[in-house]
Amino acid sequence: MLGGTGEARALAAALVEDGVEVVTSLAGRVVRPRLPVGQVRVGGFGGIEGLTAYLKGAGVSAVVDATHPFAERISVNAAAVCPAVGVPLLRLERLGWAGRPEASGWHWVNNHDEAADVAAGLGERPFLTVGRQSLDRFVEPLRRHACLVRVVDEPDIRLPASWMLLRSRGPYTLEHERQVMADADVLVTKDSGGDHTVAKLEVAAERVMPVVVVRRAGPPAGVQIVRDVDAVLAWVRGLLVR
Ligand code: NAP
Repeated sequence: MLGGTGEARALAAALVEDGVEVVTSLAGRVVRPRLPVGQVRVGGFGGIEGLTAYLKGAGVSAVVDATHPFAERISVNAAAVCPAVGVPLLRLERLGWAGRPEASGWHWVNNHDEAADVAAGLGERPFLTVGRQSLDRFVEPLRRHACLVRVVDEPDIRLPASWMLLRSRGPYTLEHERQVMADADVLVTKDSGGDHTVAKLEVAAERVMPVVVVRRAGPPAGVQIVRDVDAVLAWVRGLLVR
């Protein structure tokens, strides 16, 4: 399993419960990751070649790509490698937030650069919830804005003096987000989907605050997708009885 998400941890627990031998792979980005049950390996594979060697060497019989919707590179690599080595691949990807009633009023953008430019024109005090790895794209367009930046781990870039850093990890309640967002005037987020961080969108709706949302690139072509853990369990059971 390619992991790093709450769904991946839930799936690992369900697979172990089912008696399936599962190894969860983590990229190693987070300093103190929440670990799933079952075996865990940490660190990149070394691109397509490394993933190919790993799948063959470890005798992997199936891959579930349960990585975050914005972890695009590893998903592309898995989609290239699995068919080439004859290992079945399934993508577990939570639904995005586009179906929410207020989504049509959001400012949808294609990437973080666009998000930064659009946010710069919408407010003075953006609340940036785009993850540590994308922050560099916001520095220049928002250098003079009073950004509130929320990340899990310390960013590895120097933030402008006018920005305020908040380190925390969800899930977040509505009440928590009301307090955190009290001074913000525009919310910037990726279309991560799920429930853990959805409260910020509800607070933005309550306050009629503009919301800038980075669209997903979408999974690589030809990869079968399911939306929940039960569907993965059914797929794995189907492979086991063959
Ligand atoms: P990415 O851009 O798709 O991946 C960059 C490189 O990191 C990959 O080429 C791969 O290195 C390595 N990698 C990524 N996921 C891996 C995994 N599960 N196991 C082993 N190696 C992995 O991914 P990212 O956006 O940096 O995200 C890294 C991890 O954090 C993902 O596993 C994802 O589930 C989790 N995460 C990401 C986000 C997000 O917003 N991007 C949010 C929450 C959690 P090699 O090419 O060397 O194999």
